[in-house]
Amino acid sequence: MAEGARQDNLLRGLPVSMGYAVGRVRFVHRKSWSATERTITEDRVPYELALFEKAHARSLRELEMLGSQISRNVGSRDARIFKTHVQILQDPKITEEVPNLVRTKLITAERAVYEVTHELSLFFERHVGGDKARDIDDIADRLMGHLNEEAGALDAPVLDEPCIVVAHTLTPSLLAGADTGKILGIATDTGGATSHVAILARSLQIPAVAALNRISLDAKDGDLMILDGFEGVAIVDPTEEEQALYAERGRRHRERQRDLAKQSGAERPVTLDGKYIPMLANVELPEETSRALEQGAEGVGLLRSEFLFFRAGAPTEEEQFQAYREALESAYPRPVTIRTVDTGGDKLLKNLSLSDEPNPVMGWRSIRVCLDNPAMFKEQLRALLRAGVYGRLKIMFPMVASLDELRGAKKMLDEVRLSLEDEGIRVADSVEVGAMVEVPSAVLQMEDLAREVDFVSIGTNDLIQFTLAVDRSNEKVKELFQPHHPAVLRMIRMTCNAAHEAGIVVSVCGEMASDVLSIVLLVGLGVDELSMSPSRIAENKSFLRTISYAEARETVTECLALRSAREIDELLYRRFAKRIEALGGTSYQAKLRKFRDAAALRGESAPEPEA
Ligand code: PEP
Ligand code: MG
Repeated sequence: MAEGARQDNLLRGLPVSMGYAVGRVRFVHRKSWSATERTITEDRVPYELALFEKAHARSLRELEMLGSQISRNVGSRDARIFKTHVQILQDPKITEEVPNLVRTKLITAERAVYEVTHELSLFFERHVGGDKARDIDDIADRLMGHLNEEAGALDAPVLDEPCIVVAHTLTPSLLAGADTGKILGIATDTGGATSHVAILARSLQIPAVAALNRISLDAKDGDLMILDGFEGVAIVDPTEEEQALYAERGRRHRERQRDLAKQSGAERPVTLDGKYIPMLANVELPEETSRALEQGAEGVGLLRSEFLFFRAGAPTEEEQFQAYREALESAYPRPVTIRTVDTGGDKLLKNLSLSDEPNPVMGWRSIRVCLDNPAMFKEQLRALLRAGVYGRLKIMFPMVASLDELRGAKKMLDEVRLSLEDEGIRVADSVEVGAMVEVPSAVLQMEDLAREVDFVSIGTNDLIQFTLAVDRSNEKVKELFQPHHPAVLRMIRMTCNAAHEAGIVVSVCGEMASDVLSIVLLVGLGVDELSMSPSRIAENKSFLRTISYAEARETVTECLALRSAREIDELLYRRFAKRIEALGGTSYQAKLRKFRDAAALRGESAPEPEA
């Protein structure tokens, strides 16, 4: 518990990006950023009521039509769901309460629909069950879709002044399109630590707390808020003492980060017994490269190129070329690994993603979209090969699930190279080509894949998601998203063994590479190189310098003999907590505290750390 914080206005969630923020709330609607204006004058009430009536009538008509269609074509059993939706839509809780709120609270119809349905959904979640809550969410989306028809739901917000963005749910495309320099912090009802909004927040070093459940209901536009991205706490309308306390914490944190960055530039990431593990940076936008290098990165291990597409719509070949060139030139002679567009899942791109796929994470996404869109893909490959002249370029294909996909992508790369040469355009002559290992099939077929690439990089965020069948963005299953699950560790070991057999380097660019305890395991499992959020590099270098390679390998041997993620976590805590504590970083302290809190929640005490 944050000292001095009052209980009634303090919400706890999941800390997903470290740092402290104090600022005014800017509320952002889950479907449309245009709904941030939520209070209205009295003379606008009739207009808002009419809007609601129209949206309600349309939704009702749609549901009745859908119901009778399904009943005709499939059967009345399957049409029942639509009957239920019609009943809910006609319930006075919606038909009366929404207009009532518009009149009494002077808020937009959209906000009123949001408040009423969100309360109902929370109520059902707690007392009836998730399915009923999903029905309410569906109805809310339908109603708000109609209310928003004019609103341009995928447009990024215009932020006039520095603010803490508060939302039910955020998408990375909306975030990347906004003026992120004005975002002091991010607080959302939903989301997990490896969702792309969280990753982007870490990369931009914006403090963020997810899974706050009802922050979008409790905070209003303009409210003062404190966000603690270490502890996962949001305080609405803080007292003066709380403000002073957090201002001081923020100052100390910034000071420490500056010191660490200075010292990190000079420190090499080597273990006590001399094993060198290069630490590189994950960046979302090419211009973040120079800052990452200042923070001690030895190059870029993952540039998520799709973020360029979020920001610029569909960037032209020339725009891409300039952006990649900037990253390559600023890193030279250090390498930059640029991943080709990885769209889909929670990263929807206009014109390149299907937003209504039933199971988007396993749907038409990533390399599949690129192979199906040769014109777009080849444009990116042209820009990459041209930019490669200006630095040490490595090209990496995401979500490779079969040899055919890898070969298809490499074939296009060869074709692009030939046609550029025919046109007399200069291209990089030595570009390394690699594949991401994010799907279990890639691990199981690593012997074949490794023969056809120069390197592989394990995307643990997706590899964990697909190995354990746990949605990485769903906070409901966050306890099941276990990086140290024995099956995940075996996947990594298999990848390292097969890749080393073929003589290629294995890197990890998923979030595991940022985590201090996971680093022991990754190094011990044989990973050659780590790529992480730039803000983690300084502390992780210091930590690596306190362990030996031999010790990491022994620890892995012991961990692989254990049967569960919990047992492995406990062993790591026992062995390394004292060393981590001695390093003294705020994030380290928060990590250890989290471990102890989790044990306390189970009614146990954390194991005694070894000296
Ligand atoms: C991963 O899956 O671990 C990864 C690095 O890719 P992304 O997080 O962008 O899906
Ligand atoms: Mg991935």
